[in-house]
Amino acid sequence: MIKKLLFMACLIYAVLIGCKKDGSSAGPLQGKDDAAFAIYENSFLNGLWKLNPDWATTSGYHKYDSLLFVPDDKNRDKMISYAKVQIDSLSRFEVTTLSESNRIDYHMMQNQMESIEWSLQQLKSFQWDPSSYNVISTFAYILNEHYEPLDRRLRSFYQKMANIPAYYKEAEKQIKNPATDLTNLAIDQHLNGVGVIEKDFADSLKKSSIPQAEQKPMLERARLSAEAIKAYAAWLKALKNDHPRSFRLGKELYESKFKYEIQSESMAQQVYNAAFERKKYLHHEMAKISKKLWPKYFGTKPMPSDSLDMIAQLIDTISAKHVAPNEFQSAIEKQIPKLTAFVKSKDLVTLDPSKPLVIRKEPGYMAGVAGASMSSPGAYDKGGNSYFNVGSLNGWAADKAESYLREYNQYTLQLLCIHEAIPGHYVQQVYANKSPSLIKSVFANGAMAEGWAVYCEEMMLDNGFGGDEPEMRLMWCKLHLREVCNTILDYKVHTENMARQDALKMLTHEAFQQQAEAEGKWKRVTVSSVQLDSYFTGYKEIIDLREAYKKKMGDKYKLKDFNEKFLSYGSAPVRYIKEAMLAKSVVSNGQ
Ligand code: ZN
Ligand code: ZN
Repeated sequence: MIKKLLFMACLIYAVLIGCKKDGSSAGPLQGKDDAAFAIYENSFLNGLWKLNPDWATTSGYHKYDSLLFVPDDKNRDKMISYAKVQIDSLSRFEVTTLSESNRIDYHMMQNQMESIEWSLQQLKSFQWDPSSYNVISTFAYILNEHYEPLDRRLRSFYQKMANIPAYYKEAEKQIKNPATDLTNLAIDQHLNGVGVIEKDFADSLKKSSIPQAEQKPMLERARLSAEAIKAYAAWLKALKNDHPRSFRLGKELYESKFKYEIQSESMAQQVYNAAFERKKYLHHEMAKISKKLWPKYFGTKPMPSDSLDMIAQLIDTISAKHVAPNEFQSAIEKQIPKLTAFVKSKDLVTLDPSKPLVIRKEPGYMAGVAGASMSSPGAYDKGGNSYFNVGSLNGWAADKAESYLREYNQYTLQLLCIHEAIPGHYVQQVYANKSPSLIKSVFANGAMAEGWAVYCEEMMLDNGFGGDEPEMRLMWCKLHLREVCNTILDYKVHTENMARQDALKMLTHEAFQQQAEAEGKWKRVTVSSVQLDSYFTGYKEIIDLREAYKKKMGDKYKLKDFNEKFLSYGSAPVRYIKEAMLAKSVVSNGQ
């Protein structure tokens, strides 16, 4: 999981994974259409930011930091007509005459505009999802990201707060019959997050050089803003809602959301079917490995006749191999050089030594989630670092820490570092940063990014990581099963009414998850949709593409070439990377 994704989950449209770009797309073979398209892209983004200051800020475009728009009909209508105009403008370009990179941009821009239209006119979550109104994460971004001097950011923060009361008054007007789970989520998020306005802002003011007299009205506005936020939470709590909408999306909306968010070649239902088959395959593999391992751990004790029971017992036993709570952070840090050395020795993908991964203790404002995550620089942030945030288990109750450490045992901890860092999310970001397209980083495709990280887990094992230890394979199967079951769960819950108890049974019994993990996943599926599909969908498309590419290249195929070529297109949907990669090997004159 890329933490940034969660952190900004309140953005209405796309979730963005940042990277650095220079925005130019000039090249020697660029035709006249490409030149016109580059100019158009620029005005497209400028117009988009003007209408979406929060989105602009969190993408690293800071011209509109001081603005907060009230989410009323008028502003929504402006956005809808903007999308219509852009769809029309795009249709004036002949997509086949554009360069490979611009062609992908074209599809991503078109998809984004159609997605906005659909979201505002069909999905209409502004009526039933109270958590879609949340100003706090942008304020937290302004406070915590060091893109400008502190005084300047604090003044933007102050100006932006002016509309907070009006913002929440309008939210109350828009909300009709909200889903109960999303109402509760909004209450929690606002009450947990209000400290950013109420406390963190004041703390930062103390560190600034803003004169006392100027600080006074700033603090007063923060007080009023915090009151408005708490009043919104109180309003939601007291809201009489006899006919709440279900949090379940239903088949029709689900397929559309899947189409716009994942941008897969397949429909959600087809991916679900593939996930179902994958689960069967993994169970079969796990049973084979477990049979082999059984005598090593259980001697002559008879094997359970139910193979899921046998697998569960082995996983339970092997999970006891984990580090002590106070060694968790250093154990993660130690993985990075090992992974780097392995990737180099197996020649899997070139690692750029000029873009080192900065390992840091998880910053305070992210705290609460242990483990590890990546923070990547925003789309416009040229000088930004990639941070590997490592959380600690300090202050955790013993039983909670134990359960967590069993989950991230000696084996899965290594797989976690592969997924998040090397060669997973971090390496993907470094390659994406070299792709000159701003569009691809602003509209970064989550399924491609997650798919790559999931693909890496398997690719590393297939190349001998873990020394072919059956225990590592078994734990990989378990982790992979989690990614597969994310898809099964999300689809069945949102389109087939899967009940809570059935979901928990599947996750604990068939995916071998701890009760706490399964309950956390249930909560996630009630407050999100489609995002859980990104892991398996992206993975499957990458594997399918690699097969097709292998065929095309014949004996010229090299895994490293595939990996690097794939990453070179930036964070684009796999289907468009596929179009480019499979076409490219036909063309004989390279660019
Ligand atoms: Zn991830
Ligand atoms: Zn233990």
